[in-house]
Amino acid sequence: MSDNFNISINEIFYSIQGEAKNTGKPTIFIRTAGCPFRCSYCDTEYAFSEGKKTSIDNIISKIKIYNTKYITVTGGEPLAQKNIVNLLNTLIEKSYKVSIETSGLIDISIIPNSVEIVMDIKTPSSNEDSKNIYNNLSILKATDVIKFVIGNKLDYEWSKDVIVKNNLSNTDNIYFSPVHESLGLSDIADWILKDNLNVTLQLQLHKYIWGNERGK
Ligand code: SF4
Repeated sequence: MSDNFNISINEIFYSIQGEAKNTGKPTIFIRTAGCPFRCSYCDTEYAFSEGKKTSIDNIISKIKIYNTKYITVTGGEPLAQKNIVNLLNTLIEKSYKVSIETSGLIDISIIPNSVEIVMDIKTPSSNEDSKNIYNNLSILKATDVIKFVIGNKLDYEWSKDVIVKNNLSNTDNIYFSPVHESLGLSDIADWILKDNLNVTLQLQLHKYIWGNERGK
């Protein structure tokens, strides 16, 4: 059945998870191509146009050589792919532990319940914050992750306001992820502690291991 469904794939690779709850775990990454948005700090611009139509069966045959059950579907923006739900359901059927990284700028209600969602709320320095769909917050499960990418102090203060306005102060799994090498880590760490925030500081472990090397 699944071989009728093509997905535009930018790259499939095996690496160490650098973000969110499974940081440090060997993980398969399936990066879809294309994104309708243009965040200022995007670190995967190469995925905007470099993609190859790949059947779901072909994707499964590429990933089954890796000795892990952890898979992250990322992009680009995976939800911009017409057949993404077919891929997610196929991965679940094959007993993978699936997470999806999405921008928060597209309705997430189509994502199957057993997929862990890692959803951005776009901060002002992205220049895409006007497109945030705040209704997505009501769809997230308690186990899902909300990520704010913080580029400067304004982003930090803005994110604090969003947390208060949307009653997220007691929500677990909120991550503040500073834009790599653009914000002093001790600065954001001090802000979080001074403000007594219930958030996790996320450092993008893969960038400390390999820098901006592609496919890592
Ligand atoms: S939504 Fe993600 S992939 Fe698209 S431009 Fe923003 S950071 Fe890049």
